[in-house]
Amino acid sequence: MYYGEIKNFDIANGEGVRVSLFVSGCTHHCKNCFNRETWRFDFGKPFTAETEELLLAALAPGYIGTQFWNQGRTQEIKERIRRRCCRFCAA
Ligand code: SF4
Repeated sequence: MYYGEIKNFDIANGEGVRVSLFVSGCTHHCKNCFNRETWRFDFGKPFTAETEELLLAALAPGYIGTQFWNQGRTQEIKERIRRRCCRFCAA
């Protein structure tokens, strides 16, 4: 799995302040998409165990949720994060 960006203090993608992970790859191909470069599933950087630890560290304060924009391998990552963080939401 690849990702385009992790926003540690995101206020644009839901209620409050959250951590957002933008996973690469989209099959919708909407006409007015402003993120066409992220349609490729190999866009950005590989999501590694180290990336997951960075994500968990960003979530550690406990007041932050996280958001995923894709399917596939994200489910297992979501479950691992859910086990270690109490507040979590997924799109
Ligand atoms: S990234 Fe969003 S806007 Fe762009 S094609 Fe996918 S679903 Fe549509």
